Amino acid sequence: MSKLAALPAVEKLANQLAPEVSLPRPLINLFVRRSIEQYRRRILEGEEHSREDIEDETKNQLIAFAKSRLKPVINATGVLIHTNLGRSPLGPRAAQALEQIATGYSNLEFDLSTGARGRRAGYLENALACLLETEAATAVNNCAAALVLTLRTLVSGEKNEVIVSRSELVEIGGGFRIPEILETSGAKLVEVGATNKTHLHDYEKAITPQTALILKVHRSNFYLEGFTGEPEITELAALAKQHAIPLVEDLGSGAMIDTEKLAPIEHEPTPQECLSRGIDLVIFSGDKLLGGPQSGIIGGREELVSQIKKEPFFRAVRCDKLILTTLQESIDQYLETKANPAQADVPVIAFLKEELATLKARAELIIEQLGDQAGQVSIAETNSRPGGGTMPRSEFPSVALKVNPNNQSVQKLASKLRSCARAIVGYTTDDALFLDLRTVFPTDDHLICRELQSTLELECSS
Ligand SMILES: *Cc1c(COP(=O)(O)O)cnc(C)c1O
Repeated sequence: MSKLAALPAVEKLANQLAPEVSLPRPLINLFVRRSIEQYRRRILEGEEHSREDIEDETKNQLIAFAKSRLKPVINATGVLIHTNLGRSPLGPRAAQALEQIATGYSNLEFDLSTGARGRRAGYLENALACLLETEAATAVNNCAAALVLTLRTLVSGEKNEVIVSRSELVEIGGGFRIPEILETSGAKLVEVGATNKTHLHDYEKAITPQTALILKVHRSNFYLEGFTGEPEITELAALAKQHAIPLVEDLGSGAMIDTEKLAPIEHEPTPQECLSRGIDLVIFSGDKLLGGPQSGIIGGREELVSQIKKEPFFRAVRCDKLILTTLQESIDQYLETKANPAQADVPVIAFLKEELATLKARAELIIEQLGDQAGQVSIAETNSRPGGGTMPRSEFPSVALKVNPNNQSVQKLASKLRSCARAIVGYTTDDALFLDLRTVFPTDDHLICRELQSTLELECSS
């Protein structure tokens, strides 16, 4: 039993650790109590731990736990739509609208003309349909929900077969797999074609009286090359129409702009072009290339959209006022800049089209201001990526600060930068840390400079 004497008292250790983290005190107490409980069990099972070990380990874990609290991060990875870093940042206009709606009352479901109950998202749905140049549109919480909702609506009873090409049975990440999504939605998957080639007659042969829809899935995060082929959308659309079967496309990313005009990258299909080729419904995310809030947008034929809105599951995945207001700003911006959408005040688009010379000038300025530490930092030509499971082939030139620390390991430096008040996340190779400036807001350059100064200096003097 004497070994248990190594266990610190909960209250005392919590008092000691509280200044290390800014967390609500009950959370610190709970954390410390759980940690000590765990050590008690381990000691009783025969492990040996000194009080010092227990205190140190509890402290380290508490600090790691405190860092897991959602907070702003500087994305210096060069990956524009970084899934782990929150995908697309909102622009100032959307952020301002968010604050106004979030902190007050709104006409969410109130008709200001009549003073009676109004329709939620009525304005947004019209604006979306206008932007997509289609009959109708709506939005739900995310693209996965939009797909499940669409499938649930269009699949019913005996008519439950969904035809998908074998080259499109994709996994998007985060457990999103087309075959499983279909199963969850009560659909029966009917695979057609081969991995590399699917012909129009493959689809044609698979159509039965039980066919509910034909689903196209955009190969967002990989590409097929070599002996490949698939029917043109217009051909597939004609086939679907002939059999009165809806043709739905899960597009994933919603690029509103011809991406190849913004940067030296490939063309990402836009919802507009898919619809104009005969797709009945497109589904895409609001927080990928669109640059809006997390949401799933469904647009296309009026009859199908209104059917989707009547499906009881719609209620379970409908957007709240915070998403509705930010999405409304994002969509209005695109409508207002329709002649030149590259002018929309959307951070991912600004990052995408930023000139190399501008990035280089920013890098030079940061290095100039580093003073004594400038010797450890140089300018490197790197590559940025769209990320977020879009355009997997499209790397394009960027500029990074390349840091070769003198007296500490690259991993240690990277870890210290992640621990800054505004965490800075870059990427490392064996001998250098890279901070790609393409995805850094210029207003954060001074923070990068300041944190580099102190993290590089600290170690030199020790
Ligand atoms: C990203 C993506 C999804 C998932 O979108 P969420 O908004 O994360 O739900 C679905 N389908 C495709 C093709 C995608 O690229």
